[in-house]
Amino acid sequence: MRLCSECNSDSDVTDSRPRESGMVYRRRKCVKCEHRWSTMEVSMAQFEAFNDLDEAKAEVIKLFIKARAVIDNTLAELNSP
Ligand SMILES: [Zn+2]
Repeated sequence: MRLCSECNSDSDVTDSRPRESGMVYRRRKCVKCEHRWSTMEVSMAQFEAFNDLDEAKAEVIKLFIKARAVIDNTLAELNSP
């Protein structure tokens, strides 16, 4: 059972669609305040793979930030008299 993020009441699943990846997309609706949201159900193996992916993404983002800083410094040097 998923609780509503707005009021902590129970929710109903209004739609449930398995994805080819094995994940299950669900539309949920709060029984009390009618707040609607979506969830994605994944296996533990997929969840662990996502965590690895997030670390990889974080590394890529760090590299972009570093590259951006190098570009900014280079441009600043070129533009300085
Ligand atoms: Zn609610």
